[in-house]
Amino acid sequence: MEQPISVTRSNFNDWMVPVFAPANFIPVRGEGSRIWDQENKEYIDFAGGIAVNALGHAHPVAVNALTEQAKKLWHVGNGYTNEPVLRLAKQLTENTFADKVFFCNSGAEANEAALKLARKVGLDSGVAGKSGIVAFKNAFHGRTLFTVSAGGQPKYSQDFAPLPNGINHVAFNDLDAAKAVINEQTCAVIVEPIQGEGGVIPADIEFLKGLRALCDEFGALLIFDEVQTGVGRTGSLYAYMNTGIIPDVLTTAKALGGGFPVGAMLTTDKFAPHFSVGTHGTTYGGNPLASAVAGAVFEFINTPEVLEGVKHRHQYFLDALKTLNAEYQIFEEIRGQGLLIGCVLKAEYAGKAKDITTWAGEEGLLALIAGPDVVRFTPSLIIPEQDIDEGIARLKRALAKLAK
Ligand SMILES: *Cc1c(COP(=O)(O)O)cnc(C)c1O
Repeated sequence: MEQPISVTRSNFNDWMVPVFAPANFIPVRGEGSRIWDQENKEYIDFAGGIAVNALGHAHPVAVNALTEQAKKLWHVGNGYTNEPVLRLAKQLTENTFADKVFFCNSGAEANEAALKLARKVGLDSGVAGKSGIVAFKNAFHGRTLFTVSAGGQPKYSQDFAPLPNGINHVAFNDLDAAKAVINEQTCAVIVEPIQGEGGVIPADIEFLKGLRALCDEFGALLIFDEVQTGVGRTGSLYAYMNTGIIPDVLTTAKALGGGFPVGAMLTTDKFAPHFSVGTHGTTYGGNPLASAVAGAVFEFINTPEVLEGVKHRHQYFLDALKTLNAEYQIFEEIRGQGLLIGCVLKAEYAGKAKDITTWAGEEGLLALIAGPDVVRFTPSLIIPEQDIDEGIARLKRALAKLAK
């Protein structure tokens, strides 16, 4: 075989559209919660590919599902159905409130489908102008034009105007503000049970309950964006299960494929028929390869042992972070559920989250930010305790640099 083309980090600047500013090393392989770069330097992975690699790297369950399916059938298109996608649909519907699933390839596409479904249901209702969407400030729903417009961070959408209209943003966790804008013309309310990108901010249960009641009153779909919180991330299969509130539509992606791109929109028999033949579609969505991997990942995660393990690791992580913080006094608050953890910087360290993750990288730790003031951890759901210990030791060295 020919030698592969030799590449370096600086080639990113040569050839890649500059929407990202990746770290100055290139990961080349991973195993469990460890990654190695081109120089064979080792990193502990507290980022998990942004809440994606739920089983860590190269987990045999995922590798076997992928390679077995790869030998059989990769893609046939949606003019044909396939066995892996039907099995995955059965798993998702049997284990959630949902009766029906639409598959796609990403979180943004899942939300795009959810918002389009809501508009279609609104149209079919016969109520004039029932197309309004209520969303929340600081929310993140993806980067397509519709989903970035539903997101509540104008810096991501304003450069792409004119934006789709009929979207109203109000303050997160402010039920009165929501009440003031939800009416007969509202077709959907879209909300994250925990705002992930926005800073790891949990929704109050009373807030979600209130949204549920308002949606019922005005005939609007309640959409839970569980792209980040889903598939075991909070210690429950889906975060709505922690709340006692059942949405009409749920979107899931990120951890669903454990690293293989896949997304899904889940809904009920009441709303699914509005997406009749030809109203929406996708080329790759529900392909056998993605579905086979997702099915294996889902089966592995949806067990009491793995889900309980997430809760246990949450406590273990929190204890370690609190011990660190007692020494350095850098975090004002440590919040989140399961293995979606946000450390909010004290005012005197405002804006330093990115510096911390850069220094963490130098110490051999992958970590994330959630806005300029929050350091975020979304590791593998099965990260071993010794890797948590080692990662915390490396974080400690990074924080020591900041404290100086
Ligand atoms: C990551 C994320 C998305 C977008 O998912 P992509 O796969 O990047 O399109 C949407 N919603 C939430 C809550 C997310 O965290």
